[in-house]
Amino acid sequence: MDQANILIIGGGVVGCAIARAVSARWEDVFLVERNPKLGMATSSRNSGVIHSGIYYPKNSLKARHCVEGNRLTYEFCGKHSVPFRHTGKLVVAANTHEEEELAALKKKGEDNGVEGLRLIDAAEIRKREPHIQGTAAIEVPSTGIVSAEELVHALARVAAGQGAEIVTRARVVSLEPVAGAIRVGLRIGDEDDVQDETIEARCVVNAAGLYADEVANLLGPRSWTIYPVRGEYCELRGAKSEMIHNLVYPMPNHDGLTLGLHLTKTLWGTVLVGPTARYVEDKNDYERDREPVEGFAKNAKIMLPEIEVTDLVAAYSGIRAKLTPPNEHGIADFIITRDPEISNVIQLIGIDSPGLTSAPAIAEQVLGFAEEILN
Ligand SMILES: Cc1cc2nc3c(=O)[nH]c(=O)nc-3n(C[C@H](O)[C@H](O)[C@H](O)COP(=O)(O)OP(=O)(O)OC[C@H]3O[C@@H](n4cnc5c(N)ncnc54)[C@H](O)[C@@H]3O)c2cc1C
Repeated sequence: MDQANILIIGGGVVGCAIARAVSARWEDVFLVERNPKLGMATSSRNSGVIHSGIYYPKNSLKARHCVEGNRLTYEFCGKHSVPFRHTGKLVVAANTHEEEELAALKKKGEDNGVEGLRLIDAAEIRKREPHIQGTAAIEVPSTGIVSAEELVHALARVAAGQGAEIVTRARVVSLEPVAGAIRVGLRIGDEDDVQDETIEARCVVNAAGLYADEVANLLGPRSWTIYPVRGEYCELRGAKSEMIHNLVYPMPNHDGLTLGLHLTKTLWGTVLVGPTARYVEDKNDYERDREPVEGFAKNAKIMLPEIEVTDLVAAYSGIRAKLTPPNEHGIADFIITRDPEISNVIQLIGIDSPGLTSAPAIAEQVLGFAEEILN
């Protein structure tokens, strides 16, 4: 049986950021991922936006980790050649009624420590984005975009370079507390060639994304439930994609489920339109009953009147790990905590947006917990 100081469950951006942080400090770090490759789940099915941190309640983990993660993500990408673009973004009020909320959003951002926010008028919107219609906007200079897939792989590369052992096609099926450690049961391999293995770890980190509630329950019933909320995208390609220069967002939805159907100029020059938000039953249901392209065009027309159904093609979708049940409103915070009963397990539950941006800051918090456990 292998012995580990730390075993991380889940090879998404969060698990890989944690592997990078803890392998700089300890030997015998393992990361196990059930898919054949890292980052195949939510971490490569998102908008790829390096968020600023304007939307989240003051002092929440989302606000703090997003603002810090924004800075750390740019730093990491610059140092490790991960493709990114520091674009800035506009959050646009569609009409004068939304302007009061726009000012409140700017204040919230400033309270969270987001720098450089500026209110601009319709004429300035037109100078930056000539095809966008709106009466006023917040200019958010710290927002950008990143290749999420390459970010995951760069984090994993650094972790592996520091000695972390990364095992894919390795699914955690049991967690059993034993004296001073957790015995982690793994099913390794493909369907026709599966082996059962065990690793004993002094500290276990649950970074299993959408499945973090189920992984937590391997220790015995826990009170957390993740509700999968699908977000779908369309893509604007060809000449019409030239209508948008950077990132343009509407005012966020009041239900707290999404930041609103936005326009994201991608690193490869197309424009993503989305994501939508809809609760689904199955954590793997990426495609069933997709929103028709007409729905995207109708919604996007409020900001971009020249968009037509024929300009859009259906693109990928992703699934958010939400802690808010259907019919409840509001932004639930990330849960990052030592398990209430088995204190050498660190639980990360409900890491929905802005989890991509926040990953390096989340990793710093986990490093602090690991120090308490291992020292
Ligand atoms: C539509 C959409 C748009 C978004 N846009 C943005 C954005 O623009 N900016 C931003 O900051 N955030 C965004 N997010 C949020 C961001 O994508 C997530 O917060 C982030 O990717 C979560 O990373 P993760 O590592 O926690 O989860 P995941 O990427 O889901 O990784 C968890 C991993 O755990 C593995 N796993 C699960 N169970 C087990 C097991 N039993 N054994 C072994 N492995 C297991 C899974 O296979 C998976 O690879 C968006 C999310 C969605 C859905």
